[in-house]
Amino acid sequence: MQLKRFETRAVHAGERRARENGGGKNGGGGKGFYPISTPVHLSTTFAHDEIEQTDRVLGGEEFGYSYARYGNPTVTAFEDAVAALECSGDPDGARAFAFASGMAAMHAALSAAELGGGGTVLAAEQLYGSTATLLVQVFGAAGVEVRFVDVCDLEAVRKKVAELSPRAVVVETISNPLLRVADVPAIAEITREAGSTLIVDATFSTPYLQRPLELGADIVVHSATKYLSGHGDLTAGIVVAGAPYDGALDSLRKLVGGTLGPFEAWLALRGLKTLPLRMERQCENASEVAGRLASHPKVSKVNHPSLKNHPDGEVARRVLDGSGGLLSFELAAGDGEEGRAAAFRFLNALELCVTAPSLGDIYTLAIHPATSSHRELSPPGASASGWRRT
Ligand code: PLP
Repeated sequence: MQLKRFETRAVHAGERRARENGGGKNGGGGKGFYPISTPVHLSTTFAHDEIEQTDRVLGGEEFGYSYARYGNPTVTAFEDAVAALECSGDPDGARAFAFASGMAAMHAALSAAELGGGGTVLAAEQLYGSTATLLVQVFGAAGVEVRFVDVCDLEAVRKKVAELSPRAVVVETISNPLLRVADVPAIAEITREAGSTLIVDATFSTPYLQRPLELGADIVVHSATKYLSGHGDLTAGIVVAGAPYDGALDSLRKLVGGTLGPFEAWLALRGLKTLPLRMERQCENASEVAGRLASHPKVSKVNHPSLKNHPDGEVARRVLDGSGGLLSFELAAGDGEEGRAAAFRFLNALELCVTAPSLGDIYTLAIHPATSSHRELSPPGASASGWRRT
């Protein structure tokens, strides 16, 4: 059955109802019962009635489960659900691979783009701090040349891609913390012509706001710790890609072993069901807060794609189905020690919002990027206000 609407897919896609108990009308037997939610399959290994089947499953001749690092039905349910959300037209065109964190997912995506053996990667200056550090410290140490570009400057991207012929280009759909919006279809055109792999970290947009594979990206990565699971109670990552990357991702997961546990997969699958509702409301709320802050006398600058003065307003309207649930702002107190003290006073005075570094869950979270999410870039990679790469 092809489920059309995003909201319907979010609820139903991937579900694996256990039917071993005789069934009921969906279970085949007309008797017995079955759970309506996918069970948490807490098992290290899986047995079959006959060892011949175990042999076929282990040999890859038959789909099935053998050993949890190779696959687990609860994890597959979450993967299938995310794949169905990323590819509205052809869910068979791409597969999703769940990992134990967003960073493990990004590491696998970069490895699947064959960066392991050297080559050049061109990365957005606006990348999440740990992703930039992963590139420089881990891939850089393995011989990969890592270069950065302002992805919001398409001419600069075109020039750098022509100059470097990078094996991979890495961007985020919406950047943290300045909320710059990448023109994914335009960048995909550039990378396609150059034969580079375009890796898009879509954590901030989720498939509700943009489906990068449909816009020409090759590999999509999410920290499922954020909006996808949505409740601030687990760490997970997921990569979605079709051929030729899916085979490498499957092998990497089996061999490196950064697999997602079944309980986290179950929580993530449950959270995913309300993704459209949460995203819609969080985008609305963020726009409202951004508008109010923009007219506050103690606030000097607000960053949110819904605002008229946002530098990527036109791109955002074209490539996103909404303006995102995160916003950032600068206090009029300015940069440096004084600015930092004012930011800390502000954060300490919050009553309802939780001052903790994450995003995309049901709590409103607030942080000071220079001393939290972007700490690794500061100093010397960040400006005095804490987050601009130089
Ligand atoms: N990508 C982005 C854009 C993020 O914001 C984060 C974490 O904040 C990650 C990746 C890493 O995800 P995780 O913390 O699940 O490893």
